[in-house]
Amino acid sequence: MSLFVEKYGGTSVGSIERINVVADHIADSHADGNRLVIVVSAMSGETNRLVALADEINPARSQRESDVLLSTGEQVTIALLSMALHKRGIGAKSYTGTQVRIVTDSVHGKARILSIDSTRIKADLHENNVVVVAGFQGVDEHGNITTLGRGGSDTTAVALAAALEADECKIFTDVDGVYSADPRIVPDARRLDRITVEEMLELASQGAKVLQTRSVEFAGKYRVPLRVLSSFKEGPGTLITYEEVTMEQPLISGIAHNADEAKLTIRGVPDTPGIAYRILGPIADAHINVDMIVQNVSEDNTTDFTFTVHRNDFENAKAKLEIIAAETGASDVIGDNAIAKISVVGVGMKSHAGIASTMFKALSDESINIQMISTSEIKVSIVVDDKYMELAVRALHKAFSFDNLSTNEELSTITQ
Ligand code: ADP
Ligand code: ASP
Ligand code: MG
Repeated sequence: MSLFVEKYGGTSVGSIERINVVADHIADSHADGNRLVIVVSAMSGETNRLVALADEINPARSQRESDVLLSTGEQVTIALLSMALHKRGIGAKSYTGTQVRIVTDSVHGKARILSIDSTRIKADLHENNVVVVAGFQGVDEHGNITTLGRGGSDTTAVALAAALEADECKIFTDVDGVYSADPRIVPDARRLDRITVEEMLELASQGAKVLQTRSVEFAGKYRVPLRVLSSFKEGPGTLITYEEVTMEQPLISGIAHNADEAKLTIRGVPDTPGIAYRILGPIADAHINVDMIVQNVSEDNTTDFTFTVHRNDFENAKAKLEIIAAETGASDVIGDNAIAKISVVGVGMKSHAGIASTMFKALSDESINIQMISTSEIKVSIVVDDKYMELAVRALHKAFSFDNLSTNEELSTITQ
């Protein structure tokens, strides 16, 4: 008898028909004797619909009320799925995040899970019930409803799997695994049988929406057996692995793109010790995450300092930066929110040179200008004008020939 936590995303529960398909699948697994905790998202389009309603009524709404509203999408799905299971003669119980007691911090809209009370779920499983939990939400220590950020149901599932020590956490979605690039943009992207947790973390944090970044962090921290699969067709999916990297590892595993960022530059700041802190301290205090950071060499003891933030934080960060510019005597602040970031990720990179130059050549052949570059041990990211995003992703995918080359040795011949 195995314990599985299974998560079904928005498209997978996007209609009554789809909910029935999911219920049939759960019924089969339950009949096989598995104990099941199911996490569901809101029906596809529902979270966006709720965001639009809120924007219409008050764009400057309180984050607390926003979370009360957004959490309702998932509540609809847990009830409908439980009803569908009852119809199949299965004992099922639905719970919101608050009812389970998925306790989070109080950062509305991007709360972090602090603890999960698994008592109730365990008691239900013991009575042979399927437990259906609303993804994407929790409750803070004051009883306020919180949400975990877009895509947050993945994190609910992985965190529950960790808390329950599940045999596997299965993320059912609308693609049959993790691909070498978003299959919607690169039609000949290929499915990966396995990917290391490090690589998955980079791909997710660089924009591959197939898993929410925090869910991969959780998986890594608690070593949760994690697999991404399709709810539309059978298949092995992609397994996230935790082994040490071997020489068999492909040089590049995937390419991620992200058009959700914006770029801010504060020009002519005095280049004195502590200036980075002076600039980024107030940004961090406002809970704005900063991604790429570039500081130019100083000329006349002043420098330009550029960084990227989420587009949702653009106006807020720009306003903060203008205050900092006035305080520090910087010349001005400029912003650009029509940018896209593309990242090439692979653990094989650790022991290989030439990845960046292969990227730069592919982009140069397409006459795409690179605005920013950043690297880590297993990733190279570049920022380009967002109108070239898809072209750049395809060009890079082609340059790394995912179709027929996969091992270090083979790929090194084209990167040298
Ligand atoms: P769900 O609603 O099931 O959570 P999401 O839309 O959040 O589904 O995530 C699945 C989508 O992620 C896919 O439809 C695909 O377009 C996108 N995606 C982006 N990068 C990748 C990738 N490398 N592999 C697979 N899917 C990806
Ligand atoms: N419904 C939420 C969203 O659309 C959470 C999720 O689907 O994971 O972002
Ligand atoms: Mg998702």
